[in-house]
Amino acid sequence: MSKSSFNWPLMNANNSDNILYRQSLLQTWNQILALFLTRLLIRLFEEIHFMEQFFIKMHNIFAFTCQVIFFILCDFVLNDLQGIVAVKTNRSVVLALTTTLFYAVFSYFATRIRDLLLKNRVPSRVDTSSDCLKLLMKLVLEWAKTIVIIMCIREQGIQYDPNPLYTLLTLSYYMCSEKVFCEICANIAESLFTIECFENLEYLYVPLILNVYTIVIGSIVNLYLLIFCYSNFVLIATYFIIFLRIKDAFFNYWQNIQAEKKTYSSFRVATDEEILNRDDICAVCLNKMSKARITPCNHLFHPICLKQCLKTSFLCPLCKYNFRENQ
Ligand SMILES: [Zn+2]
Ligand SMILES: [Zn+2]
Repeated sequence: MSKSSFNWPLMNANNSDNILYRQSLLQTWNQILALFLTRLLIRLFEEIHFMEQFFIKMHNIFAFTCQVIFFILCDFVLNDLQGIVAVKTNRSVVLALTTTLFYAVFSYFATRIRDLLLKNRVPSRVDTSSDCLKLLMKLVLEWAKTIVIIMCIREQGIQYDPNPLYTLLTLSYYMCSEKVFCEICANIAESLFTIECFENLEYLYVPLILNVYTIVIGSIVNLYLLIFCYSNFVLIATYFIIFLRIKDAFFNYWQNIQAEKKTYSSFRVATDEEILNRDDICAVCLNKMSKARITPCNHLFHPICLKQCLKTSFLCPLCKYNFRENQ
């Protein structure tokens, strides 16, 4: 019997032990690596999500970015529909920026209208004449800026001549994505719909609906370009005008609506009999109630008055009962 053949089984055992040991070591390392990578990815996504939310929360910059991108895409689509093959991106960008500037002046008017609407509801917010003067100066300044820019553009040989369809698409998009127009629409909806179809949450529902409109119209334009005239810019545009806007709608409106609904669920709607049986004067505005919500502490308020109070604190306006803690 040779030495090598004698040692063979032992070596074999050692080898298999070694292999097993190595395999288990490899498995452990793989698990550690997988865990590390998963944690890293989760952390990375969290950071990206945080950055995106930060960007979305800067309403003006986010809206401006989406508007300019959408306006450029609109010009691409209309050029394609009209059969203009040699599209100059430069011209589309200039057209988009000038259009945004034009509309920005309208949004100043809208800001004034919104303040008036709010002033009617909140009497403490009084506009002084100096505020009006400031606003007027701002308006003049904005128009002057726009005119100077258009003159400069003309000097460069670029004519600003948007066609009606372009104006219709861009103006509707602008109005639906600008915060001030959303607030005005919510205010109008609040005074129009006396029935509780939005459960007194118009200020969240209306922007959500307008946001959905911008997502839909943005998706249509984007899809057209992706199919018929693909470019890298269209892909980047998808991220901003579809992905980020969906994120905004979901995290900043839809989730808020759910949270508000949860808060409101503890205040059931009072029946006519209940309103009559108890004191039918709202303690917040001292007006008669035809509609009311009942708090867990058995107090009746106008739904709108209750909502106004809940915006500032979660205490009952009458007995200081804490709605949040006792939910
Ligand atoms: Zn009231
Ligand atoms: Zn109470």
